[in-house]
Amino acid sequence: MKILVVEDEHKIAGAIKRGLEQEGYTVQISYDGVEGFDLASTEEYSVIILDLMLPNIDGLTICKNLRNEKIHTPILMLTAKGETEDKILGLNSGADDYLAKPFAFEELLARIRSLLRRPAEVTDNKLYAGDLIMDLNSLIVRRNNKVIQLSKREFTLLEYLMRNKNKILTKDQIINFVWNYESDILPNTVEQYIGYLRNKIDKPFKNSIQLIKTARGFGYVLREKEN
Ligand code: CA
Repeated sequence: MKILVVEDEHKIAGAIKRGLEQEGYTVQISYDGVEGFDLASTEEYSVIILDLMLPNIDGLTICKNLRNEKIHTPILMLTAKGETEDKILGLNSGADDYLAKPFAFEELLARIRSLLRRPAEVTDNKLYAGDLIMDLNSLIVRRNNKVIQLSKREFTLLEYLMRNKNKILTKDQIINFVWNYESDILPNTVEQYIGYLRNKIDKPFKNSIQLIKTARGFGYVLREKEN
């Protein structure tokens, strides 16, 4: 399994390479966008880890150009602190997943493994939970075929819950993913946003299962079964 890492921060690129090599992957690093694109479009990789901000050509453009050239190698986009908006753009540009820096290596590894498990021909970029469907290409959320309007923050929160279906997420994990360590976020804010989401995706659907559940003392979980 060969992985391409396009990242101009030498320290981060080096740490990713060492970690992945220990896991048995072959890793090639490029510190530059133009070279990274050339490698990605001429050689075979199982996964491409692509930084968003790069010299000469940015990660989003690389991603779009690769998809335009019908190169469907799974792409994990790395974003820096505070680039929440870019996350959504990243997914729109054809990236398969994204991870905000700083991240734990274990998290990176988990994302890579999940990308490797995906069959290559899958282009339907959707998340499912019962009758709730989130389309990550069109950014449309539907339940029972009804379109649900979400703010960008609510969308990111729901996406995080859906990607981690059946897994309890602590408020800290949620803050880290949705707010990217912004300084003045209080655990109350998470509660507040969970409330907004419930009002949109659960409460109007009285005959369906209420998906967002509180794990008292721990956090929240999205589960499509009653318990
Ligand atoms: Ca960078």
